Amino acid sequence: MLTKNSNKYILAALALVLFTVKVSAQKVGDEFRLNERVDLTPDGIISNFQEMGMDPVNHILTIEEQEIVEQAFDVLPPVHQEILKEHLHSISFLDNMPNTALTSPVGDSEDTKMFTITFRAEILQQTISEWATWKEQGNYEPNSDVKVIVDAGDLNAMVYILLHEATHVVDAVLGISPKQEKLDSLSTATGFTLDTWSSMNAPTQSYRKTILEKTRFRGGGPVSMTLAPEVYQSLAQTPFVSLYGMASWFEDLAELTTIHHLTNKLDQPYQIQVVKQGVEVFHFEPMESKEVQQRIYHLDLFYRN
Ligand SMILES: [Zn+2]
Repeated sequence: MLTKNSNKYILAALALVLFTVKVSAQKVGDEFRLNERVDLTPDGIISNFQEMGMDPVNHILTIEEQEIVEQAFDVLPPVHQEILKEHLHSISFLDNMPNTALTSPVGDSEDTKMFTITFRAEILQQTISEWATWKEQGNYEPNSDVKVIVDAGDLNAMVYILLHEATHVVDAVLGISPKQEKLDSLSTATGFTLDTWSSMNAPTQSYRKTILEKTRFRGGGPVSMTLAPEVYQSLAQTPFVSLYGMASWFEDLAELTTIHHLTNKLDQPYQIQVVKQGVEVFHFEPMESKEVQQRIYHLDLFYRN
């Protein structure tokens, strides 16, 4: 997480559309395998973090880490792989990076739509369950009795995080969510956002639940862990798969795609457990929600050959 200030966090999460990296785009083609696009992080991204008072350093992958990256590319949906071959300029890894990952446009040209993705290197040593539990707990104040745990299987966290970030690239190329310059206009809603979002970061009125609006990705802050069952009961009445997916329509698409692919295509679990003194007191599986299931058809285009 970039900062505890939720507004700043949301801005950072939207860096995809706000922050352009000035580096020269190199020519890439099908013969240039995706896992061979690992490079150093562009100076502009490092200096951006430095200006925020952080000191990230380039991380050189070990052979074992290179294999983790290759495997994560191999399990992406077919259309993600095709689009990345054309539009992924590079990926890079940083130690001491504050947030998990950042997708940034490369160069000045709107037409070429080239992107670079920067990852926090430590995620390569975590499972999805470990990373997702850490991320989910960031929504709550620490509590010695009550814990929120995400059971999302033992695949490497890179699988989840690459899929999420790659979906931002696919979205930017295919325009599944509305374009940047039309962020606040209702009239430009796409099929994906029409029934769910009033504007880029405001869900339609019926999905603005009181308790959810207090959470950090909705502009609030950490809430008491004892409220977790109530939070997920409210989330289950929305079409969103995660609290993070409510930050904006970009994150909504990335989260829905990731958890759908993970559960329905890769046969992994995805459930959130609220545990009190070691005993499960509440259980939430976002993909069981009818509201969520009714949106899955929007993702069918990722699986066309
Ligand atoms: Zn994102």
